[in-house]
Amino acid sequence: MKPVNLKFCPRCGSIGYQYRSNAYWYCPVCLFTYYHNVATSASIILEIDGSVLMLVRKRDPGAGLLCLPGGFVDSGESAEQAAIRECREETGLEPKVIRFVGSWPNEYAWRGVRYHTCDLYFAAEDIISLDLFKPDLEEVSAFQLVTAEELENAPIAFESHRNALRSWFSQKKART
Ligand SMILES: [Zn+2]
Repeated sequence: MKPVNLKFCPRCGSIGYQYRSNAYWYCPVCLFTYYHNVATSASIILEIDGSVLMLVRKRDPGAGLLCLPGGFVDSGESAEQAAIRECREETGLEPKVIRFVGSWPNEYAWRGVRYHTCDLYFAAEDIISLDLFKPDLEEVSAFQLVTAEELENAPIAFESHRNALRSWFSQKKART
């Protein structure tokens, strides 16, 4: 399935621009090839009193639904740096020590383009206090603390986040 409907080659303007192998755009006239690569995102699991801090999204995709603090990795940035930066920008909270939890695939639709993503998840190892919570009001309308028992029925925007939290809660249970 095409991630977006492009009719004309953006280089030579010929009709018949093709999306091939679920991976790249190709122009049979001028051979212009453009890979629609998987984008990397990084999110942080912040534990507060045994629950996980989730944000209510102000914007689509998933406006009104829950997500973890996180976002796309910028060019030249590590996933760890991106996860901490996005967390700071969205919540005002800045974990210093994070541990990789795992990665899950996702799809992200934005303004008519469907992006395949690989979502990486990290857990903060520091003690996080909500006293410093200062949400980015352009992106976040509220927060919610989600327990292991609430996870399956929580209105979460992306299944990859739910998968990551399932894994994290079960790792936590195994440690105690
Ligand atoms: Zn072309």
